[in-house]
Amino acid sequence: MGNLKTALKSEFGGAGRTMSPPSPKRPKKSCDDPNCPFHGSLSVRGRSLDGLVVSAEMDKTAIIRRDYLHYVPKYKRYERRKSHIPAHNPPCLNAKEGEQVKIAECRPISKTVAFVVVAIRGDQ
Ligand SMILES: [Zn+2]
Repeated sequence: MGNLKTALKSEFGGAGRTMSPPSPKRPKKSCDDPNCPFHGSLSVRGRSLDGLVVSAEMDKTAIIRRDYLHYVPKYKRYERRKSHIPAHNPPCLNAKEGEQVKIAECRPISKTVAFVVVAIRGDQ
């Protein structure tokens, strides 16, 4: 059963796989942000997630909302849960509120930010 784990990984989009040249395509615009995974020296590794931008008002940081289902065994039903993940928003992507984005884990950029926006859904 050694390949069960790899089978699961590929089924779920390979979460946990490293993607040191970021696999999403490079944005058309360029930027000079050192914390940009495309034009700076920031490398991404670990988890990559999808979410909705609920706030992009901070400087180069966006709040990503993730909705997910959590199973409650007692009632044999799922309950809806959500989480907010602060993510670095490089100027070349400049994700706006209401956009569906893909984020990838990176080194901690600040006290709370350890993810970076790597793609905006719908423009690829
Ligand atoms: Zn950039």
